[in-house]
Amino acid sequence: MTPDEFRRYGREVVDWIADYYERIETFPVLSQVQPGDIRAQLPADPPEQGEPFEALLADLDRVILPGITHWQHPSYFAYFSANASGPAILGDLLASGLGVQGMLWSTSPAATELETHVLDWLATLLGLPERFSSGGPGGGVIQHSASDAALVALLAALHRVSGGRTEREGVASGRFAVYTSAQTHSSVEKACRIAGLGADALRKLDVDPVTLAARPEHLRELIERDVAEGVTPALVVASVGATGTGSVDPVRELATIAHETGAWLHVDAAWAGVAAVADEFRWLNDGVELADSYCTNPHKWLLTNFDCTAFWVADRAALVGALSILPEYLRNAATDAGAVIDYRDWHVPLGRRFRALKLWAVLRWYGAEGLREHIRSGVGLAQEFARLVASDDRFELVAPHPLSLVTFRLRAGDEATRAVMDTVNASGALFLTHTVVGGRTVLRFVVVSPQTERRHVLAAWDALRAAVPAG
Ligand code: PLP
Repeated sequence: MTPDEFRRYGREVVDWIADYYERIETFPVLSQVQPGDIRAQLPADPPEQGEPFEALLADLDRVILPGITHWQHPSYFAYFSANASGPAILGDLLASGLGVQGMLWSTSPAATELETHVLDWLATLLGLPERFSSGGPGGGVIQHSASDAALVALLAALHRVSGGRTEREGVASGRFAVYTSAQTHSSVEKACRIAGLGADALRKLDVDPVTLAARPEHLRELIERDVAEGVTPALVVASVGATGTGSVDPVRELATIAHETGAWLHVDAAWAGVAAVADEFRWLNDGVELADSYCTNPHKWLLTNFDCTAFWVADRAALVGALSILPEYLRNAATDAGAVIDYRDWHVPLGRRFRALKLWAVLRWYGAEGLREHIRSGVGLAQEFARLVASDDRFELVAPHPLSLVTFRLRAGDEATRAVMDTVNASGALFLTHTVVGGRTVLRFVVVSPQTERRHVLAAWDALRAAVPAG
């Protein structure tokens, strides 16, 4: 593709995306295709000769769009919706255009330095403790996802509690333990599996029956038992805004107990953490000054398209100690001088995209004011939805809902709750998902999309009420 062709098709693609946003409400939120429908329309073999780009764009409309669940749709209330925005998409396009591999500072100094800088900016915007800033022993990095953040936090924790031995010796079964509540995202169990500890190393903390927050006394009990049996507590993961219900663990208490035995405290604030950009949600950071690492996802609720997990450590030496291997072919003067950050030592892959560009574009386009407005809008709409649920006796709210996630169910029971969800999702008018709390089915209603307005929330509520089975 010549630069002229790129210019021409690039304009078409940008127009296509802009048109897509303008017509997004004409699509069913949840894709209505059956398994295999999309592949059945694709040729069995790749093309022998190159094709015009128009052919691809035509297939995008004809073949691909029907198989898309519209994560950017204003009536998408499932999981945590995508948070793509114009500036983020354009920032990402620039990163693709530059095609930079920022694995070492020397492979593109601007990629590393901008990433360090925007993560310092973000830490300031969120009111995170000074210990996470790059000016001291800590610092931030963009990970693909909160799952990667949990994994590297675990590897750093193992490095620290083993005095650097786990990198050479591996982890013997039954030697280390990890603690988190049953509300915590499954990525922590996955991290245990990937790190070779196995899922049996994971201890599930009991939660308070009302707030669903982890009980610190249970952590103390489990740690004491493990220590008595010769098992080393390696990592405690506190959730600030757990996936299913949004529960918030008492970070301060959990961190204090973790540190008594030398365990690492990681805070997973994947969805909720970015809300701290607004002063009234700074309470989310309570105790975070005691955390060894912290992550939050601008791709979940801060107008940045996937992938963008902001991850900070208080002491980068443990992380680098766990992950750094320096083969001869990567040696260079800047690394040897120890004067720079080489982000390859802060995450799993060697190569890394220039993701800081999109976050930079978002922070500059919206400014702190625009970001706060976005968070407040989501919270305001979710609170309005919660009031509507509370006003109808057939429904009940389930967990505390201070932010943009509301959990609720039908008093009539699980079957009726699921029936309502299945009906509204099949209609294509909205999309929401469920979880189980205390053995009972619960629906989740999440408002994080910048496209969602009051009319979408009211329409969703009307659809939910209309879907309640008679009797
Ligand atoms: N942690 C929490 C609290 C989450 O809500 C999620 C996803 O919803 C994750 C971790 C995993 O997210 P990611 O896709 O960034 O790995």
